[in-house]
Amino acid sequence: MTQKITVIRGDGIGPEIMDATLHVLDRLGAGLEYEFADAGLAALDRHGELMPQATLDSIARNAVALKSPLTTPVGGGFSSINVALRRHFDLYANVRPAKSFPNTRSRFGDGVDLVTVRENTEGAYLSEGQELSEDGEVAISGARITRKGSERIVRYAFELARSTGRKKVTAIHKANIIKSTSGLFLDVAREVAGRYPDIGFQEMIVDNACMQLVMRPEQFEVLVTTNLFGDIISDLCAGLVGGLGLAPGANIGENAAIFEAVHGTAPDIAGKGIANPCALLLGAVQMLDHIGRPQDADRVRQAIVATLAAGDSLTGDLGGSGTTMGFAQAIASRL
Ligand code: ATP
Repeated sequence: MTQKITVIRGDGIGPEIMDATLHVLDRLGAGLEYEFADAGLAALDRHGELMPQATLDSIARNAVALKSPLTTPVGGGFSSINVALRRHFDLYANVRPAKSFPNTRSRFGDGVDLVTVRENTEGAYLSEGQELSEDGEVAISGARITRKGSERIVRYAFELARSTGRKKVTAIHKANIIKSTSGLFLDVAREVAGRYPDIGFQEMIVDNACMQLVMRPEQFEVLVTTNLFGDIISDLCAGLVGGLGLAPGANIGENAAIFEAVHGTAPDIAGKGIANPCALLLGAVQMLDHIGRPQDADRVRQAIVATLAAGDSLTGDLGGSGTTMGFAQAIASRL
């Protein structure tokens, strides 16, 4: 059966890594149909706005989008287009796998295989409640945690553990100090954990979690946490397995999901054809899993692993001298 997805080619290195990713998906023969839509600077150039309604309509219709990085120009009416998209579609779960790959600059061998599930819509990242006193001496920012928001993110983490054969969920918090917000999150996490007797549950204070992640990352399977901690910890985890060029992320809601690379538009290397396409391609792997094509997802993942292991056509960030499309062709040839 054909599945239509919205494809946003993005800005900077976006179009290059998207072409490379689609090359691999085409070779896979997964029956995907692409509906191209613009956002970011490309949309501003073509349509006079950063996020055209037609793009929002396309994502709403298809419920699945593969998106390259976007530039949000200063003064463009958005603080970030990515954040605006997450809000618009209530994409509450930011899901970032971190799995060791061969032949990367990771310090941790092949022992890491974890997923960070970050709450994406509340917590400390609110635009309201930010204050600076008139004399500029005192600043205050608020955080909001809800039972509903905590419940759905923790449930998501447990369901993910179940569906991927993982056996443990670790809730990361600071409830010993931030008793109100982090305390509510932890209370709800405990309640939800009680409904999943088949999955182990562990609680860990965020500072200890950071140390444990660096000392013994192989002890973790699924991490679930609030927005700010999740933002920091998921980048830490990307660093455990070789950095930005290999870090994908999914933003998932009830009615839509957007899959992407974690990195930005990399203006310093844009247009040179040397960007690593793997982060976006791994985002496509998450997408294939999400739309119920786990075998296709596995095939692409294994082709990436085999290409990395062979050191074939690797891009500069991985120590090679290959091109974006050359790397994609090497991966596609292993499918
Ligand atoms: P933005 O403002 O869009 O976030 P940025 O340059 O601040 O852009 P990134 O795009 O994440 O942030 O880039 C950080 C560094 O990592 C840059 O030096 C960039 O060249 C490099 N980088 C990012 N993505 C890739 C990639 N896919 N392949 C190779 N290098 C990359």
